[in-house]
Amino acid sequence: MANYQVSLLPGDGIGPEVAEATRRVLDATGVGFDWEVCEAGLEAYEKHGELLPDATIASIRKNGVGLKGPITTPVGTGFRSVNVALRQELETYANLRPGKTIKGVQSTFSDVDLVVVRENLEDLYAGVEFDTGSEDAAEVIKAINGRSKKQIAEDAAISIKMITPEGSRRIVKFAFEYARANGRKLVTAVHKANIMKYSDGLFLKIAQEVAEEYPDIEFNDRIVDNMCMQLMQKPELYDVLVMPNLYGDIVSDIVAGMVGGLGVAPGGNIGKDAAVFEPIHGSAPSHAGKNVANPVAMLLSGVMMLRHLNEQDAAERVEAAVAKVIGEGEKVTYDLRADRDQSKAAKTSEMADAIIAAL
Ligand code: NAD
Repeated sequence: MANYQVSLLPGDGIGPEVAEATRRVLDATGVGFDWEVCEAGLEAYEKHGELLPDATIASIRKNGVGLKGPITTPVGTGFRSVNVALRQELETYANLRPGKTIKGVQSTFSDVDLVVVRENLEDLYAGVEFDTGSEDAAEVIKAINGRSKKQIAEDAAISIKMITPEGSRRIVKFAFEYARANGRKLVTAVHKANIMKYSDGLFLKIAQEVAEEYPDIEFNDRIVDNMCMQLMQKPELYDVLVMPNLYGDIVSDIVAGMVGGLGVAPGGNIGKDAAVFEPIHGSAPSHAGKNVANPVAMLLSGVMMLRHLNEQDAAERVEAAVAKVIGEGEKVTYDLRADRDQSKAAKTSEMADAIIAAL
């Protein structure tokens, strides 16, 4: 069979190290990959004057699938986050964030197995904002105050929460399709429709409509604050959670925390034509170049990519090898050790070697 063409964005900071570990493990599965290495981030900026070169977007568009390391977002330079730009350019409307307990990773919770499906393009993250005191804000405030009983203060800053029927339908459908394809039993829509009757109300109404098309999968809904408490008290009652962008950003991090945090939390951004898989952690500049970063989050993002490519067998082998190495507790990076002792810990590349040996 022909090799898969995959765009590989190593990113910066610890990105290149965890990306290299991941590439070696995925190559060792025997599934053939042709990696098209693409630039993005600080190095790309120094060379070409742009953080996200057009050639990188073109490569992902052509291949339809990318694997990406973390990218540093320079603060205070006026640059948009490369991650947000990538999602918008490629229209990856679904952010898939599984959270599954791995034995041997320290956490207050055990046996967690949840999937957060976060809408990725709308809501308060659509980027429609007006600064305090600006002319545009004044005009928007005037227009709204002429139509609304509740008045907006003249000096308010404004961010628009945009929820559309189409955007809601496609994300909820995505959640149900994911549930069906992965043997999941329940989809929960998370919202605040009791307060935001129109925007979140629309999301909930559409979710209820879509649920009727999937009689084989149970459906319920929860108000977001209650959802957070329930996750702390009885996470076993939940399965797939689908929600608008802002709640998804927060709840997916809660779920990541429940299974051991940044070092082990993978993610995927999926659209109609392209999917990009990436760890949720950042570029951890203080660890860069030291071969000490935990490669597991990026590796599990690679596992999500294997599943996306329908390479289920390889996905399970990598997942099992990662679990075995973590469970043995020997060849693991410092953050996976109870004593966090760097001197006794495995290096990033050594942990990758151990995982390859366990495949
Ligand atoms: P971070 O995730 O880089 O680091 C937070 C903490 O977690 C640090 O203590 C770090 O050392 C540790 N950590 C993170 N990943 C680790 C790993 N794999 N192994 C061991 N320890 C790990 O978050 P930050 O410090 O807020 O951000 C640093 C930079 O990364 C910023 O420029 C930010 O914009 C960027 N960032 C990028 C992405 C992305 O590309 N998807 C995501 C988040 C942050």
